[in-house]
Amino acid sequence: MLYLDYNATRPLVPDVLDALACKKLLFGNSSSVHSAGRMARKEVENSRSIIAEHLNIAEKRVIFTSGATESNNMIIKGFKGPVIISAIEHDSVFLAKSDLNICRVLNNGIVDLNHLEELLRQINAPCLVSIVAAHNETGIIQPIEDAFHLTKKYGGYFHTDAVQGIGRINAPWHLFDYISVSGHKLGALSGSGILVINETVPLIPLITGGGQERSYRSGTENLFGILSLGVTFPHAMTEDWSKAKEGRDYLENAILSISPKSTIIGKNIDRLPNTTLISMPGVQSATQVISFDLKEICVSAGSACSSGKVKVSRTLKMMNLEEQIASSTLRLSLGPDITKEQLDYFIDCWKNIYEKGKK
Ligand code: PMP
Repeated sequence: MLYLDYNATRPLVPDVLDALACKKLLFGNSSSVHSAGRMARKEVENSRSIIAEHLNIAEKRVIFTSGATESNNMIIKGFKGPVIISAIEHDSVFLAKSDLNICRVLNNGIVDLNHLEELLRQINAPCLVSIVAAHNETGIIQPIEDAFHLTKKYGGYFHTDAVQGIGRINAPWHLFDYISVSGHKLGALSGSGILVINETVPLIPLITGGGQERSYRSGTENLFGILSLGVTFPHAMTEDWSKAKEGRDYLENAILSISPKSTIIGKNIDRLPNTTLISMPGVQSATQVISFDLKEICVSAGSACSSGKVKVSRTLKMMNLEEQIASSTLRLSLGPDITKEQLDYFIDCWKNIYEKGKK
C-alpha cells in the first residue's frame, strides 16, 4: 500500500510503539492517591512537561483533551465574548457556535488581514480570533503571527488550530493564547490531543465532572494517549520534511508534464512541505480516490464527501475557485520518508487514470 494521506492521519511513530510496549504493565487512575495512581500521574505530568518545554510555555498551560475537535470546540464555545474565525477553518471551529464573525480569505487562500482588522475595529471589545496555522486541504500556511499582533492591537486573544502546522512550520508558539493540537497527526495515539490555554482568561469548560486537568477538562485522563503524546512531541518538533518537499515538487512537475491543464492550488504560496492539492481535468475527485485505491494508493479528495453526496469544499468555494477545477482536485499529503520509486509508481497511475478519464 502507498499511503499519501498524512494530513488525515499517520502511522504511530516507532518510538511510540516502543514506549507503549515498555509500559504495557502501566495502569492506574492518575487521580488515585495510591502508588498505581501516582505512577500514572507521573507519566501524565512527564508528558505535560515535555510538551511545555518544546512549546516554551508554562506546564500549567497544557491541557490534555481527546483531540483537536474537542480542543477547538472547547475554546470556541468556552470563550466568554465575541469570536472571529476565518472562513476556511476546520468544521470543528466553523460549526462550534452559531454567532461567529467570519473573516474572508483572499482568492489565493490566505486570510484577509484587512478584513480581520475591520472586524476587530467594528466589534470594539476583547474578542477571540481563531485562525488555522496551515490548512489541511490546501496546505496553505496562514499569517498567524501577523494575525496575532493585529488581535493584540485591539485587546483580543488569539487561538490557532495548529493540527497541521505543529512540527511542519516555524511559528512563535509561546506567543499565542490558545493552541489546538491533535495526537494522531503527530504519530501519537488517536483520541489524544492538547489545548494550550491562557491561564489568565476564564474559560467555560466543555466537559464538567471530576475536575481533572484542573477542572478545565473533566474525565479520567487518557493515560496511554498522553504517554504517546509525550514521546512523539520531541520527534514531531524536530522532524525533517525536506524529503517530502522534494518529493512533492517532483510530483507536481511530473503531473504538469502529463496533464498541463492541471491546477495546483496555492502553487506560488507558502505551503506545508508535504502537501499538494492538484486537479485532474475531466475526472471527478471521488472517481480519482476510488481509482487510486484500486491501485493500492491512499489519497484524499479535495472535495469532501458527506451523506453519500460529493460536495465542493467550503475552502475552495471561499477561494472562488472555478467549480470545474474544485470538483476535480485531489489532496496528496506525503510522509517524511517518501521514496522516488513510490512517487514514480504514483505518477504512472496518475497518467493511467487521467488518460482513461479524459476519454
Ligand atoms: N483541525 C484540522 C486543521 C484538522 O486537519 C483536523 C483533522 N482532520 C482537526 C482539526 C480535527 O482533529 P482530530 O482528528 O484530532 O479531532
